[in-house]
Amino acid sequence: MKNYDVIIIGAGAAGLMAAAQLHERKKSVLIIDMGNEPARKVAVSGGGKCNFTNTYADYTHYFGKNPRFVVSPLAQWTPIDTLNWVKSHNIEFTEKEPGRYFCKNDANDIVNALISDIGSTGIKYNTTVDGVNKSDDTFIIKTNTGEYQAKSVIIATGGLSYAHLGVSNIGHVIAKQFGHKIEPIRPALCALKTKSFSSDLAGISLPAQITINKTKLNGDLLFTHFGIGGPVVYRASLFGTPKMAINFAPNTDIFEFLKSAKQKNGKKTVANTLSEFIPNKLAHFLCTDPRNIADFKDTELKQIANKINSFEIDDASTIGLQSAEVTAGGISTDKISSKTMESSLCNGLYFAGEVLDITGDLGGYNLQWAFSSGFVAGLNA
Ligand SMILES: Cc1cc2nc3c(=O)[nH]c(=O)nc-3n(C[C@H](O)[C@H](O)[C@H](O)COP(=O)(O)OP(=O)(O)OC[C@H]3O[C@@H](n4cnc5c(N)ncnc54)[C@H](O)[C@@H]3O)c2cc1C
Repeated sequence: MKNYDVIIIGAGAAGLMAAAQLHERKKSVLIIDMGNEPARKVAVSGGGKCNFTNTYADYTHYFGKNPRFVVSPLAQWTPIDTLNWVKSHNIEFTEKEPGRYFCKNDANDIVNALISDIGSTGIKYNTTVDGVNKSDDTFIIKTNTGEYQAKSVIIATGGLSYAHLGVSNIGHVIAKQFGHKIEPIRPALCALKTKSFSSDLAGISLPAQITINKTKLNGDLLFTHFGIGGPVVYRASLFGTPKMAINFAPNTDIFEFLKSAKQKNGKKTVANTLSEFIPNKLAHFLCTDPRNIADFKDTELKQIANKINSFEIDDASTIGLQSAEVTAGGISTDKISSKTMESSLCNGLYFAGEVLDITGDLGGYNLQWAFSSGFVAGLNA
């Protein structure tokens, strides 16, 4: 049986980036993947346009028990490195928001670039890894099609969300077997369920601000049949808490506005008055009282204003992993070197990408993490 220098489990963004470095270093490498195509999540990312990096990437945009773990990998392969890499492959790109870069044409441009960088490295598709054992200095990788041997292994098996693309928890199982802790996993970057709103509001979208603990998040919010979605809610889902306050008119002190409207245009209903700032249907949902605004006491107006400027929710829960963009939690970074991505519990065992307890914010941070951690693992394995 051939004894490879390195076997990479997972041909996603992290695994392929690692493979490219190993190819440069002329190591003998085999990539094993359960699917029939590489980097399937990259191909669907960013709505098919792949938001491949964010130049604001630093540890403050990452979640997990120890977000500072990303500091060294992000310094070794920076967002600018990603951008230069994209340029070197002549991929056309756009900066949709400051620092947030997307492919101009197709996310598959990134997949093709990753594949071209691994050169002649072999990928065994449709091959599912069931387990890894270590005997002396050799890893034995067990799959549904047979066993493979390597001196080092890189676990780049990703998260558990979007299961229809082919996912497994084998990375967690292997890590645990070698003594690593697994932080509880949960869906993230996804819509939230809540009973606080009527399903009649489904389809309405508006700019909003969500406050969680003391963090303020801004972006579009979309009402759904089961709760709320849209970019600002996706970001809120990262916090994993049922409590938050939504400001439906972030730039307006609605109490001041209502008091002045009461003086100027007292014959209008409060809901119709509010329609100036928020969609009519939402205004009528938040204020069902049919009286004219002139008939409201200021204390009553204050209560209504609070519903618009600080609507409190305490029952928000994430939808299932199936529709979440990423999996929060995963292999604890505790016993892993951020300088090399090697396990401190088992020589030759490396990790990269979403399989770890590192989750990036919405905006290209997750792929940047996959690239940075994959780069470092590939440089050291
Ligand atoms: C719809 C969607 C949109 C997204 N958009 C963006 C975006 O625009 N920007 C951004 O930064 N991030 C985005 N993300 C997140 C980003 O795509 C992922 O975080 C990133 O691709 C993770 O890379 P990875 O290499 O760690 O894991 P993955 O890409 O998940 O790769 C893991 C690989 O391991 C293989 N594998 C798993 N188990 C086994 C096994 N037992 N045996 C063999 N192989 C196995 C899988 O088949 C898979 O190919 C998006 C995610 C989704 C789902």
